[in-house]
Amino acid sequence: MQALPPPHLGEPYLLTPGPLTTSFETKQAMLRDWGSWDGDFRQMTQDIRSRLVAMLGRGNEAYDCVPIQGSGSFAVEAMLGSFVPDTGKVLVLANGAYGLRAARTLQYLRRDHVVLNKGDYFPPRADEVTRILRDDPAITHVFAVHCETSSGILNPIEEISRAVQGEGRTLLIDSMSAFGAVALNPDSVQCEAMVSSANKCIEGVPGFGFVLARKEALIRAEGNSHSLCLDVHDQWAHMQRTGQWRFTPPTHVVAAFAAALKAHEAEGGVAARGARYARNRDVLVDGMRGLGFETLLKDRWLSPIIVTFFCPADPQFGFDRFYALMKQQGFIIYPGKLTVADSFRIGCIGQMDEHVMRQVVRAARRALDDMGVESAAPSPEALKERGKLAA
Ligand SMILES: *Cc1c(COP(=O)(O)O)cnc(C)c1O
Repeated sequence: MQALPPPHLGEPYLLTPGPLTTSFETKQAMLRDWGSWDGDFRQMTQDIRSRLVAMLGRGNEAYDCVPIQGSGSFAVEAMLGSFVPDTGKVLVLANGAYGLRAARTLQYLRRDHVVLNKGDYFPPRADEVTRILRDDPAITHVFAVHCETSSGILNPIEEISRAVQGEGRTLLIDSMSAFGAVALNPDSVQCEAMVSSANKCIEGVPGFGFVLARKEALIRAEGNSHSLCLDVHDQWAHMQRTGQWRFTPPTHVVAAFAAALKAHEAEGGVAARGARYARNRDVLVDGMRGLGFETLLKDRWLSPIIVTFFCPADPQFGFDRFYALMKQQGFIIYPGKLTVADSFRIGCIGQMDEHVMRQVVRAARRALDDMGVESAAPSPEALKERGKLAA
């Protein structure tokens, strides 16, 4: 395997799940200005929309793609506000920050909802979902997070989809950090709509998100939204009619995204992208375990997107110092988001391959040496907590 070139002129690698390290070609695509009304830009918009729909794989004919300006959370809010009518009720499956953010969004939107809160990282399972749906016939929609980026868990989305379908309800998915690297095929996951954004597994730069939704749902969504700017139906109808975004599009971001999509395709699409990330994860996890670090999750639940490691219990270890030492060596890591134990996260996505991941492990070893940390093993309490998670 050929090593990927380093990002650019000594920039650090972003081992974060978006913004992430992008290719030179993707950055270079932003060096031109585009008129939003112009036919070339309209063509580019149309092109990214159809490529994203195609990425769903078999069964994609029923879907269309609607880009939405803003960060990923704007697209989540747009999806919830546009597909859940004000008479609807949502079951939110939460096992981390993004599930909880969706619940908070519904609260702002004044849409009725209940939350199955599994804590920091336990996955929502089909039997629980089925039970809640049977007990509450008022629930119309289920919201699930595909990869919960706050712990890095890959939630069992096929299983959840079967449970939701079995009870005749509608599934909405936040696949922000998984889409493009983990298959989300309409044959195996029945959802009305899902969202992702430009700066995750497609490896674009931040600035917009996109909703992939069933065309019939897009038609039905008319009049649901609480917000003009976040009305997915209105954005879709306008794009169908004019080929344009409703309000100023992030033109440079769209151009970068078009370049990133071409690179995604050239790499071999979702399967190849997912395989590179999985290899990144495997090399990282093996190496870090070799240094004595432990992952929060057991292997079965580890996503190829981002991995949470417990902080070493050794009193010489401090996260801020570790962060600074890693940065000095060219790697930006990510703090943890757990309430139960001290942790940090390392992303596996972006323009990086296994050669880079080996350097990351070497850098971590040097950082531990510098701090005088003898053992990277976590506290016994942290491990006990993990023991409750199914293998
Ligand atoms: C990145 C991400 C989001 C969106 O976050 P923004 O900061 O608004 O871009 C939502 N859900 C998940 C699972 C994510 O990883």
